[in-house]
Amino acid sequence: MTQLDALVQPIFDAVLQRNPGEVEFHQAAREVFESLGRVISKHPQYAEASILERICEPERQIIFRVPWVDDDGRVQINRGFRVEFNSALGPYKGGLRFHPSVYLGTIKFLGFEQVFKNALTGMPIGGGKGGSDFDPKGRSDAEVMRFCQSFMTELYRHIGEYTDVPAGDIGVGGREIGYLFGQYKRITNRYESAVLTGKGIGWGGSLVRTEATGYGATIFADEMLKTRGDSFDGKRVLVSGSGNVALYAIQKVQQLGGKVVGCSDSTGVVYDETGVDLELLRQVKEIDRGRLSDYAHYRGAASDYRPGGNIWSIAESTRVDVALPCATQNELDGADAAALVAGGVLAVAEGANMPSTPDAVRVFTEAGVLFGPGKAANAGGVATSALEMQQNASRDSWSFEHTEQRLEEIMRGIHERCAETADEYDEPGNYVLGANIAGFTRVADAMLAFGVI
Ligand code: GLU
Repeated sequence: MTQLDALVQPIFDAVLQRNPGEVEFHQAAREVFESLGRVISKHPQYAEASILERICEPERQIIFRVPWVDDDGRVQINRGFRVEFNSALGPYKGGLRFHPSVYLGTIKFLGFEQVFKNALTGMPIGGGKGGSDFDPKGRSDAEVMRFCQSFMTELYRHIGEYTDVPAGDIGVGGREIGYLFGQYKRITNRYESAVLTGKGIGWGGSLVRTEATGYGATIFADEMLKTRGDSFDGKRVLVSGSGNVALYAIQKVQQLGGKVVGCSDSTGVVYDETGVDLELLRQVKEIDRGRLSDYAHYRGAASDYRPGGNIWSIAESTRVDVALPCATQNELDGADAAALVAGGVLAVAEGANMPSTPDAVRVFTEAGVLFGPGKAANAGGVATSALEMQQNASRDSWSFEHTEQRLEEIMRGIHERCAETADEYDEPGNYVLGANIAGFTRVADAMLAFGVI
């Protein structure tokens, strides 16, 4: 573990003490703190105004009961969360995650990351995150609808176009956003389009929002490759996950001339030497809500399905040029990173939030692998949410081409901001440092301007 600067160590110790047991939040905070010692010593005004202490304490944390009735008539109880972390740059913005593992520490880590990610986009959005320990897997549409309606019956009083704008994350896609928006509209009697993003195209959604996170992560990886005069052309790629982020990362890699030789879901891994069949994968995952084993079944001999396998171990037996972890936090550890390095990996861009453990990041950095951290590489999703808010505010809707072009400009801008900041601090190519410092500085300067609030 990297030693923290003496200026920030006591502040980090206080974060540990004040937030016991929230290990993912500690991990996310520590990673940012590792970058900030030199910023604080160079700019004492941040320490004088206790910016670091304030930035680690959410402005508001809401926890609520979500009762609902299942298809058998039984009452179920879940816990709902919304952590409104920082509104220095705009309304709180960030997704909702529905997954049985969700607890306050998950939402705090995601909300904390979101503050810096959103700042890096250069757009007027603060940071927040929410969700529930509800498990949508195996639930009927009617059950998901009743859960979403109950969730919104509490959440509606805390959100709004100028206050807090949730969207999707793991377990929350177009279906859930539809039920949530419908209930918000009914309770408030307002057609407030920009209260949620990720809406359907016919009722206030933006083209490219569905594709944006996966496309953005791939564009970020492409930008990193370009710094070494390289490109995706002919590259062999692993993309973990097979949710929304992974599917569209695969699509963009293929458009840029790369070949995706493996993907995964929570039940197993597919190694597909001839290249993943994206249309089939989309049919199985997006339309049938099926498993990767179903994909392998239809694909037959072309793919090698390994139940419960580890996608990164594919790099032990074959060359892998680029890795895009797009599943979930801490899915790629030090040993996985070592396998990828041995397999020849040149670049890693995080489509998920914090998928690489601190050990993995160290292995990549020491091996000179181009490493794009999630708060930079996966910011295309939230950036396109901000474009959706712009379209809603002007009661307009843009073409696919125009919106995709805006996304590309934003991703290149984020890459440039990270690279320039890393240069400024004499660590060229260190995107972790660049992302943390560039994101922090934008939020911190706004907080300084506002005084002690
Ligand atoms: N959940 C996504 C993220 O991690 C998107 C959030 C949004 O669009 O507000 O950034």
